[in-house]
Amino acid sequence: MDFVFPPSPRVVLPIAGSDSVFPVRRVYCVGRNYSDHAAEMGADTREPPFFFSKPADALVSGGGEVVYPPMTNNLQHEVELVVTLGKGGAEIPSDQSLDCVFGYAVGFDLTRRDLQSRAKDKGHPWEMGKGFDQSAPVSAPVPVSVAGHPLSGAIWLRVNGESRQSDDLSHMTWNVAEIIANLSTYVRLEAGDLIFTGTPAGVSTIVRGDVLVGGVDGVGELTIRLV
Ligand code: MN
Repeated sequence: MDFVFPPSPRVVLPIAGSDSVFPVRRVYCVGRNYSDHAAEMGADTREPPFFFSKPADALVSGGGEVVYPPMTNNLQHEVELVVTLGKGGAEIPSDQSLDCVFGYAVGFDLTRRDLQSRAKDKGHPWEMGKGFDQSAPVSAPVPVSVAGHPLSGAIWLRVNGESRQSDDLSHMTWNVAEIIANLSTYVRLEAGDLIFTGTPAGVSTIVRGDVLVGGVDGVGELTIRLV
């Protein structure tokens, strides 16, 4: 194959406790999946799951320094459990969907809230509020053989040492099995897909210099610094 210019490098994530890497295909995200966060966004807390995407190259593997993005005065954090798929399918039954999971990671769904809010008001797409460069820091996936399937356990985030988000995975409106099953009715899922599963309440504005540390019990921690 004679490329007209060098192709972009394949996006990969290191795997916790392994020399192998996880090749990323797509990044899906669930909107409003904890009732307290849905309430703070002024939304119905019982509506079915809905999805949006981020580009795979928006991932920031392992966190570290993240450049404060342009075109916003209200960047916000959302700490989330991230599902990584080792198998895919279409219309996957929820009682089989966990078999598709390779492992779990911790992710930050960074959001230009002012752009997202404007898009909501105008009925415009969310991409520019959600899918910008470096908008998806993520920790190394931990395989199911190590992490199991975390149905409960703390999910939390601190900014400069101060607690901002603190909840339990058991408070998800739609659990991981249901999310995979529902998403696979819209699109065929494949190995390499990531799903950010939504954030608990407590999202807040962050600025340059802030240090964010977030974690999920049994899955790991993620740290970024905004520069
Ligand atoms: Mn989110």
